[in-house]
This record gives sequence, C-alpha cells and structure tokens, in this order.
Amino acid sequence: MVSTPAHSYHARSLLSDDSPSSTISSSTRSRLEESLQLLRQVVETYGEGLALSFNGGKDCTLLLYLLCAALEDSETMRSKPLPTVYITHNHPFNEVDEFIDQCVSRYGLSLARENEPMKEGLSHFLSSSPIPVQAILVGIRFGDPYSSNLQDIQATDRGWPVFTRIHPVLRWTHDEVWEVLRAIQLPYCSLYDHGYTSLGGTNDTRPNPALALPPNAQGVVEYAPAWKLTDSTKERDCRVKK
Ligand code: ATP
Repeated sequence: MVSTPAHSYHARSLLSDDSPSSTISSSTRSRLEESLQLLRQVVETYGEGLALSFNGGKDCTLLLYLLCAALEDSETMRSKPLPTVYITHNHPFNEVDEFIDQCVSRYGLSLARENEPMKEGLSHFLSSSPIPVQAILVGIRFGDPYSSNLQDIQATDRGWPVFTRIHPVLRWTHDEVWEVLRAIQLPYCSLYDHGYTSLGGTNDTRPNPALALPPNAQGVVEYAPAWKLTDSTKERDCRVKK
C-alpha cells in the first residue's frame, strides 16, 4: 500500500478539530472513528493477508480512503501494493473503468481484474494471489440488497470461496458517505455528478429519476448529483429492474 493521497487529509487530522473535516457532524465523526478502529484492528490481525474488493463505487471508495488512513502508522503495509479484486462487469461504464485505473495509481493497488462471475472470480483471485489472502474488505452497507444479516466480520457462506469478509462501512448511511466524501474532497467516479446514485453496468443503470431536473430550453433533462438525493430509500432506483 502506498501513502495516503497527497490531496487528502491524514488520519490524525481527519478527526482533529482544525481540519476541514471538522465540518463533519458529530454522529458521522463517530462513524469515522468506529470504522478506523475496526480497520486498525483487522490490519493488526490479518496484516498482508488482507485484500480489498473494489468496483469504483462510492462506498468502496470511502472504504479505501479509510483503509489508507488506518494504515498511516504501518510502514510495512504502506510500502506494499494492496491486493485488490475487481469482478469486471459485462457492460462496463468507461467512467468507472477510468476511475478504477486512476485509483490503482493514486492508492498503489495491485488490482486483479477477474472476468468471471463473482464466485469464480473470487476463487481465481484467491488461488492466484502470490500472498495468501485470508480476509477481504467489502464496502457493503445495511440497506444494500442481502445485507440485513451481515456482521462486521464474518466467514463466507457455505458454497462460497473460503475467506473472512470484513465490512467497515456497514452502518454508514447514504448521507453520511456523501458528507465525508465531499468534506474531504475525495475524488469519486464522475457518474455520481450526473445523477447516478449506485453503479452497475451500462445495461442496467441509469440516472436516478428522483434527481431529474426540469427540462432545459431544448427539452433536455439533466440530473442533479447523487449527493442531492434526499430520500435515501431511492438510492437504488437508478438500477433498471429486468
Ligand atoms: P454504489 O452502491 O454506489 O455502486 P459500491 O459499489 O461501493 O457503491 P455496492 O455496489 O453496493 O457499493 O457494493 C458493495 C461492495 O461490494 C463494494 O463496495 C465492493 O467492496 C464490493 N463489490 C461489489 N461489486 C463488486 C465487483 N464487481 N468487484 C469487486 N467488488 C465488488
């Protein structure tokens, strides 16, 4: 893992009173503290056996930043590329692929792009990793599909490749994620600025109808940025149901 990106704020200043993040509400600061504490604990426990699952979405972008912050005191881990897995989409957005490429160099990721379905892709990632991967960080939050029974740390379900799943942003809300991304001016995928509130592929994702602006003089409808979504229950309304 390389150093925390130069444009951002280091972990200590992230929670100190004189940083721009001091504009963050006290409840969100508690979230930050909880997540950093969990991340420091898993870095201690798993060390180089820790990997990240990353698809360029806002939640894993926040998670990646928090991991960098948690690694601030770990010279050993920071000096090595972070093993990262991306299960590619059959219909990828160029914007997502470009953002992922930027993150690879910005954060020093050792990215494995797996062109297989999730189970097979994870299995191949684990079997081909030069350093045995024991645990994978996942940016899932309560409110995402199939998340209601998740815990912070747990083994994969039967029938899945065997590793420990770690969920450091499980309790974050949509609003809290955007509050922090914006407060620390963390780069995120540009699609979020055009009304996309959650990212799938070009065949199943559209701008969120809840963010549609009145048509302009030419009758073209544009969309407000994702962080303007007021009803977070509509976060996944940008996914087209098939
Ligand atoms: P958004 O909901 O805005 O797209 P996100 O992609 O970070 O943000 P989800 O799509 O809900 O969140 O996925 C939850 C987490 O699961 C991601 O943060 C990431 O850690 C992991 N994940 C999901 N899809 C993939 C994928 N194709 N490859 C690697 N990791 C993935």
